[in-house]
Amino acid sequence: MKRVILLGSSGSIGESTCKVARALPEKMKIVGLAVAKSTDRLLEQAQEFGVKALAVSDSQAAENVKSRLPSGAKFYSGSDGLTRMVEETQADMVLVAIVGTAGLAPALAALESGKDLAVASKEILVLAGSAVMAEAKKRGKQILPVDSEHNAIFQCLQGANGKEVRKVILTASGGPFRQSSSQEMEKVTVAQALKHPTWSMGKKITIDSATMFNKGLEMIEAHWLFGLPMSRVDVVVHPQSIVHSMVEFIDGSVLAQLSVTDMCFPIQYAVTYPERMPSGLPPLDLAKLGNLSFEAPDEKRFPALRLAREAGEAGGTLPGVFNAANEVAVEAFLEGRISFPRIWGMVESVMQEHRTEKNPNLESIVAADQWARVQAKAQLGRGA
Ligand code: MG
Repeated sequence: MKRVILLGSSGSIGESTCKVARALPEKMKIVGLAVAKSTDRLLEQAQEFGVKALAVSDSQAAENVKSRLPSGAKFYSGSDGLTRMVEETQADMVLVAIVGTAGLAPALAALESGKDLAVASKEILVLAGSAVMAEAKKRGKQILPVDSEHNAIFQCLQGANGKEVRKVILTASGGPFRQSSSQEMEKVTVAQALKHPTWSMGKKITIDSATMFNKGLEMIEAHWLFGLPMSRVDVVVHPQSIVHSMVEFIDGSVLAQLSVTDMCFPIQYAVTYPERMPSGLPPLDLAKLGNLSFEAPDEKRFPALRLAREAGEAGGTLPGVFNAANEVAVEAFLEGRISFPRIWGMVESVMQEHRTEKNPNLESIVAADQWARVQAKAQLGRGA
């Protein structure tokens, strides 16, 4: 039985994690739940799974929920509430699925307090990959990737010797503008960008899939998770999203992991690892699918991939700057303030202004993140 603390339980990954817990009551027990503001959903989940440790990071929302808590529940509020819940609650694993930098401190706290870390939030490895990997190694704890691509690679690497890996190949759906020209991308609307061809996800990640910033962030994550230089992290466009990623070995053999597109697959594998468990999830019908296709990504039309490589190679604070500037730009795009291509335009110019700190501590990482947001917003203020 794995006792799991779930941070970010009301989001898309959080809800899928609850589905897995519902399907595997003998294998998985949720023992802690955290949300930012969605307190109604938090209370429903707490009741369904009998969870006694609850956290709400937004102070206002925390204040409002206090009178409605289940009896005997331990309640944590405020920005450090998540970290305290992680430290004080007995569990085997912490699954971090919160958007933004709020997941960083609780992720490190999970490892420091002797728990495995399941990572769904990209920021954790993009911003602090060096610190997180070092902490896991020091404590002898696992880092289990929940993102479908990294989970696929993790599955393909079971039983493999790291020295036998030539490179990892992340698959990308290519998003809704895979075949659009640069001129067409100038006129992309928010509604068009929010229509993802294969996955149904939150708004931020859907825009990131359309720009391919999502794949860029995943390249940096893979670089840390699997201990490979950026030059050995490849991307191939695969519009059907059935092959979730691949590993190429030194003998030229390639292993791939395939399944229908449902986040319950990687979540279940992360939770039950190193075991596999029967699931009610639909099997893959390749004959019905008929064709799987692959093509090279176009870094001219999708500069996010080139920028990610630059950020990952430079390391230090630059990947965090890449991430933060993109967050501000995506928000501005969703508000109709900037054009679609301006998203990568803004990120590139903020990256160029940044003086990278090589071996940052957590404070410097957060400071660089804040700096990038201020720079990006200043560009918006100047009518970027
Ligand atoms: Mg992914």
